[in-house]
Amino acid sequence: MSSAPYTIGVDLGGTNLRVAAYSQPTGILEQIQLPTRLRDGRDAVVRDMCMAIEQLIRNRPQGGLVGIGVGSPGPIELPEGRLHHLPNLPGWDGFELRATIERMLEMSVIVENDANLAALAECRLGKGKSLGADSLCMLTLGTGVGNGIILNGNIWDGMNGMAGEAGHATIWPDGHVCGCGSHGCLEQYASATAVCRMAREAVVGGNAPGLAVLERQNGEFTSRQLAEAARAGDPDAREIFDLVGRSLGIGLAGLVNTLNLPLYVVGGGLAQAWDLFSAKMFAELKHRSYVYRFTDGEIDAFGHRSAKTYVEPAELGAESGILGACLLPITSERGVITEQAQTKP
Ligand SMILES: [Zn+2]
Repeated sequence: MSSAPYTIGVDLGGTNLRVAAYSQPTGILEQIQLPTRLRDGRDAVVRDMCMAIEQLIRNRPQGGLVGIGVGSPGPIELPEGRLHHLPNLPGWDGFELRATIERMLEMSVIVENDANLAALAECRLGKGKSLGADSLCMLTLGTGVGNGIILNGNIWDGMNGMAGEAGHATIWPDGHVCGCGSHGCLEQYASATAVCRMAREAVVGGNAPGLAVLERQNGEFTSRQLAEAARAGDPDAREIFDLVGRSLGIGLAGLVNTLNLPLYVVGGGLAQAWDLFSAKMFAELKHRSYVYRFTDGEIDAFGHRSAKTYVEPAELGAESGILGACLLPITSERGVITEQAQTKP
């Protein structure tokens, strides 16, 4: 049998563990999805991960495996793959994720921050590909606000893997306390968690009758319900999404002024509320970033067409994390697997 090249990607989430085999140009060849057994401890989770990886390797012809990419919530110290204070994986602080996987598998793996991997996939297979941009900055609006920066097709990891933490940029200096130890981070105003918190605060404040009814009916809020309430015209729900937009615009203005990249992508579940927050986001971005204003793609007073900064919703959706993990061994020089390692007894 021939040994067509393929990679394996792992998406380690707080709820689900996904492991996939991938080849170009086919895409995902086979995928295993398991619940992340956090209650059984981190060794049990890594054992599940390694068994799924081994199963995918057994299902393919020997010799074709290019490498294994593992995405984990950050912050992670790279290239060591050591985890730091993960709000969604309690008890994993200081865990040597890469070393533990490599010991169990007896193979090298590459570990990367999951928000960076979503950005990599969006660049190579999503919006970056559609617009012909090989550099981008992505914000992922989920439980928190993830951030990844891709420069010339590759992840910008920074000195030790901690670049791309714009979710913790200060937006409102005296704002809500954040798990990172600061106050008023972007994550506290533009994540799904933040939207639900702001709704609860509005109800407690006693001036949000529509939201109070919604809470009584459903027990607790979801960002999707709040988006529906805003679309139906509830003024307090609309106000929350206005604040999401303003906060994102301020965060993006800092990024555009600093990075001057061609493309900024907004993904994650809350990005589905684009229709509700984008007008305020663009207004704030225009107001606060002259780099953005100077790069509108229009012809200027001297007759020159300027370069254009695109700010766009993501294209790939929930698949971006696992796709980025699968792409990682193709784009990174770390952790290339030799044929010898794959054919161990
Ligand atoms: Zn923070």
